[in-house]
Amino acid sequence: MKLSITGYSTALFSTWYFIEELGILFDAGDGVSAGLLQKSRKIKHAFISHADRDHLAGLIQFNQLNAREKLPYIYYPKDSGSFPAIANFCKKFDPHVTGTQWQAIAENERIYLNSNLVVESIKNGHIAAKEGVTKSLSFTVFEIKRKLKEEFGALSGSEIKALIDTYGKDYTTYELKNPLISYSGDTPVEDWDRWKNANILIHEATFLNVEGEVIPDKAKNKHSKLEEVIEMVAQSNVKHLILGHFSTRYSKEQIELAVSKMIKKYQITQKVDIIYPGEINRMTIESNA
Ligand SMILES: [Zn+2]
Repeated sequence: MKLSITGYSTALFSTWYFIEELGILFDAGDGVSAGLLQKSRKIKHAFISHADRDHLAGLIQFNQLNAREKLPYIYYPKDSGSFPAIANFCKKFDPHVTGTQWQAIAENERIYLNSNLVVESIKNGHIAAKEGVTKSLSFTVFEIKRKLKEEFGALSGSEIKALIDTYGKDYTTYELKNPLISYSGDTPVEDWDRWKNANILIHEATFLNVEGEVIPDKAKNKHSKLEEVIEMVAQSNVKHLILGHFSTRYSKEQIELAVSKMIKKYQITQKVDIIYPGEINRMTIESNA
């Protein structure tokens, strides 16, 4: 499936990614509506990774421009109080705007966008939270197909239908999950297996960690360093990596150089795209399993 991705991602200021064919928005930082113009109308499902202001400040305008009957859906980590606050504010500020579906989600939830598209939420460590508490999420979009189990291959259509009616579809078929696109949100690199089979991975790489660089203590364990991301991707089946959320402390040239150094060091064969600070980037990528 071809995916057209428009993204803006600059640490501290704003992050949003729009996947046109899926009608999905990952995060809604400042400027998302101004950046997408009429295309923001195509967003049906907005998944907000966490409540840091650079990931949600565009929600008010996005909501009032696009709300219509039962749309859009805005999903957010269930224990972030910021979202009910914003939802309440929007209802008072724009009382004529109705239709928006604010939905709290936990980790490991499955959100069906239709019968063959599902989004799964993954808890990440950007915001420390006890077990069962959800404050920061990553997401993967899967294309789902049901395949007939081999042992039933010789049966006719009506025989299969009869089996499904009697024993349920899990008895006769199994689910095939094709990960179309994954989004890390803000997160440290925590688990190399998390993105092992991602076709397209959008991952944050806030810090280049160039020689002599001092990374502020409070940011240290909450974000990813470029090298950690590349090292992880080198061990994975990721086919296409999109790097974003770079700090504005780096110039475009510094980022370009650091990324190409890391590609060489870890002998990355995957395609790598960079979302430079302050720029809206547009790309079309083929996502196949
Ligand atoms: Zn951020």
